[in-house]
Amino acid sequence: MIVATGKSILNGIAIGKIKIYKEPKVEISEALIGEEEAEAEIARYEAARDKAIDQQNALYEKAVESAGEDSAEIFSVHAMMLEDEDLSDAVCEIIRGQKHTAEYAVKRAFDNQAQVFAEMDDPYFKARSADIYDIEQNVLNILMGIDTDSMQGTEPSILVAEDLAPSQTVRLDKSLLLGMITREGSSNSHTAILARSMNLPALIQCKEIDDSWDGRMAILDGYNHCVYVDPTPDLMETLSARQKEDERQRALLEELRGEENVTLDGTKVRVYANIGGPSDLGAVQQNDAGGVGLFRSEFVYLNSKDYPTEDEQFEAYRLAVETLAPKLVIIRTCDIGADKKVDYMELDPEENPALGFRAVRICLTRRDFFKAQLRALLRASAYGNLGVMFPMITSVREVKDCLEIMDECRRELEAEGIETGHVETGIMVETPAAVLCADELAEMVDFFSIGTNDLTQYICAIDRQNAKLEPFSDTHHPAVLRAIRMTVEAGHRHNTWVGICGELGADLSLTETFLRMGVDELSVNPKSVLPLRKEIRGIDLSKEPSEGTIVY
Ligand code: PEP
Ligand code: MG
Repeated sequence: MIVATGKSILNGIAIGKIKIYKEPKVEISEALIGEEEAEAEIARYEAARDKAIDQQNALYEKAVESAGEDSAEIFSVHAMMLEDEDLSDAVCEIIRGQKHTAEYAVKRAFDNQAQVFAEMDDPYFKARSADIYDIEQNVLNILMGIDTDSMQGTEPSILVAEDLAPSQTVRLDKSLLLGMITREGSSNSHTAILARSMNLPALIQCKEIDDSWDGRMAILDGYNHCVYVDPTPDLMETLSARQKEDERQRALLEELRGEENVTLDGTKVRVYANIGGPSDLGAVQQNDAGGVGLFRSEFVYLNSKDYPTEDEQFEAYRLAVETLAPKLVIIRTCDIGADKKVDYMELDPEENPALGFRAVRICLTRRDFFKAQLRALLRASAYGNLGVMFPMITSVREVKDCLEIMDECRRELEAEGIETGHVETGIMVETPAAVLCADELAEMVDFFSIGTNDLTQYICAIDRQNAKLEPFSDTHHPAVLRAIRMTVEAGHRHNTWVGICGELGADLSLTETFLRMGVDELSVNPKSVLPLRKEIRGIDLSKEPSEGTIVY
């Protein structure tokens, strides 16, 4: 058995034979043409370009159906790039001035343009270089009469390729596609975005792919970022079972997709998703979450080797807010410290890190650091529906300071002529102090989000990192449940809506308890959204609590 690793862009299992997908080699002649042939070559180029534009427009229509409008947009961008007069002028110049064939001129002119994009610093324009190569191949295939549609074989398989351009990806016959593996590719490339929206397990940057895999049995394990070629029978059995479980979940998903999160007596609850960054947005959409209740922004810091700049942060937040608009996306300001550390912040070791210098305590001490994040968030707010919440709050003073700094950032941006939008503000209720001051805090913000992970740790004095304490820990501890009820009641006294974003929100044995307390929103990992919806739809709050329900 061969085990090769890569980077998974969609969790899931694909089992089947491998098909190596190879573009035919295009040999382009460097021979010169006669003076009198130039106009005919230009006409050939223009006809091929026009046909390529038609094909890109047709791909757009196809992609809208299979992957949605946002993912399809790249093909209208391709069509626009092909219509670009400067690019066509460059091709015609090479044909007319240098006496080369249309194929040669296309290769030279498009390669030059791709190179220009590749040299740019801006990651968006850098990525456009791959698009130029993609449309170049498209025009060359037309000029050389190459049919790329017949390269997928005849039976459903896991496609293995050096790289796949967006136009190749969308042209693939989905009924013959179990999964995709490429040697190149980046997680934010359009190909990856398309694969995600087509809901296909896919592995990129798998450097060990080999032509000898063609036709061999394989398992693409998106959960573990690897592919097993010639898997053992035991592994086959284990991962087939996992795949069946995924299918069961998908069936559940189909049944409940688009349905409301409403109890039998008509009480509506918001069910949102918790995410760690833009790479989880696909999961939010696939699982039909109503929004994002917790975007743990510290992952943006943890994934970075140095302080992420305001622009880098803005890109990450804008992507989330804009992709999900008009749904609400609640981004939590940086919750670094305790178990989440980054070297570049040079935080001193502490005796009691969970009770130490973390979250807003760092932000309010290092104001420039905090302001870079708040400015990025405010800029992103112009692109959709944003909520911002502050973690580890223990006092009115802290919330006041956070809101003041946010106002200061807004004023600065306005003075710079940078657009901002409306932002709902909230706090995490995850310390006993916040619960006990909930009435005062509720007057200051639009919403509360209860972080049951830390709240349990601090109420029960049980270090959440210490596995030895598990026997002493009770996730349904009455003190924690009472604290949740007190928070909901305090919030509602001041028209502040209250959600739960800690792990307890996904505990189905407590769903009825939370609804009876009046919790307005539950934010859970994306995979728990639909099981939770199912649970909610079976609850009747007008009747006596169902058996076993803890009532507070
Ligand atoms: C919590 O404490 O419940 C929470 C949601 O935040 P985190 O787990 O990131 O500390
Ligand atoms: Mg927490």
